[in-house]
Amino acid sequence: MTSLHVEIVQKRESCIEAKTIKQLVHAYLSSFMSLSPGTTISNSEFDDDSALKQDVQSITLCNLDDGHQILYISETVMIYHVYTLNSFDSEMETMHDPSSGEELPAANMWSLPSKEFYGLWESLIYDSRVKEQTLRFVETAFEFSDRGVDSNIINWNRVVLLHGPPGTGKTSLCRALSQKLSIRLQDRFQNTQLIEINSHSLFSKWFSESGKLVFKLFNKIKEIIEDPQILVCVLIDEVESLTHARRSALSGVEPSDSIRVVNAVLTQIDQIKNFPNVLILTTSNMTSAIDLAFVDRADIRQYVGPLTEKPIYTIFASCLTELMAKNIVMREQLFSYHVLKEYNFTKNESTEMSLELLKLARLSVGLSGRALRKLPFLAHALFIDSKTSTFSRFLQALRQAILKHKEDN
Ligand code: ADP
Repeated sequence: MTSLHVEIVQKRESCIEAKTIKQLVHAYLSSFMSLSPGTTISNSEFDDDSALKQDVQSITLCNLDDGHQILYISETVMIYHVYTLNSFDSEMETMHDPSSGEELPAANMWSLPSKEFYGLWESLIYDSRVKEQTLRFVETAFEFSDRGVDSNIINWNRVVLLHGPPGTGKTSLCRALSQKLSIRLQDRFQNTQLIEINSHSLFSKWFSESGKLVFKLFNKIKEIIEDPQILVCVLIDEVESLTHARRSALSGVEPSDSIRVVNAVLTQIDQIKNFPNVLILTTSNMTSAIDLAFVDRADIRQYVGPLTEKPIYTIFASCLTELMAKNIVMREQLFSYHVLKEYNFTKNESTEMSLELLKLARLSVGLSGRALRKLPFLAHALFIDSKTSTFSRFLQALRQAILKHKEDN
């Protein structure tokens, strides 16, 4: 038997119990012979008279660790997670800078699961099992903590470091992972908060005041952590800014204040990392050896590398599917990379357009995920002069956009 996580978004206005929703969804899924992990069934796909129409916004069948494409219902055990999405915007925590009188952004906070991050996990595409592995690491850390495993005997903690070139989705992955935990760990935590610390404003300019800011910020975090029912995910982006500050201080470029700030942050992290309801997520764009006092603190280190043709193809295909759904590009059949491979990448009438797109994916190897998701927009803005274009015309424009991007960079 294979286990499949099924994540169900219940409408906010729905009043029925999660248990009933699970039963309804189970009956619905059981009417199929097979299921495709990695797909989302949205409300518009339910029949009007379906019992789900009124209460369920969407059903996501999560990807499996082994990348299985088809599951037979009779061989599958479904694990259901029912949740509602918070629609509040993030709250910005500001700190007062007395020298300029300005309010500086110190951190953003979200109550999860948030509408803003819905679908983010699924939108991130890698050719290795980066996402699943990171999720397994973190789930195991919580499991060990639950069972009281002595971390002096087996070393583990809940400090994660994602490192790799810029634009490969590290920050997004941290946010998506927090959202995922808020859904998966609902039985343990009533609430999840994501606190994203703005390291730039914390470490760059206002060193003399920064020490106080760090202290204030972490005090606020500690207040939240005190409630064991709240899972607190603390995200510190681009932790290398810590190293820069430390190095500059050592070489005498920066005032010694900076080193105090860095040390204050490390001490604060050490203080909060042992709480069983805390997860610390960090990212770094340094690809070579990361010279950070921080690295020692992270048990879960994951390299997030540049994208290869397969994920690039999948990203482009997802962009085109969206443009076709919104009638900006005329509909054509588009195969997944997996299916193209089964066809042995052989050209025929039905695979032709997909293979043309694959050529563009190959041309785009070396570009960041961030750049890739912008290219379809640039293609339409710069190289298409009608509201709707044919698929092949759009591919031409996309090629021009890729070449232009490479030239400009
Ligand atoms: P990083 O933190 O590594 O610099 P980000 O998380 O800021 O990267 O990524 C910026 C944007 O680029 C994301 O919002 C996403 O749209 C896109 N992106 C990056 N990597 C990927 C990926 N592997 N799959 C899909 N989209 C990606």
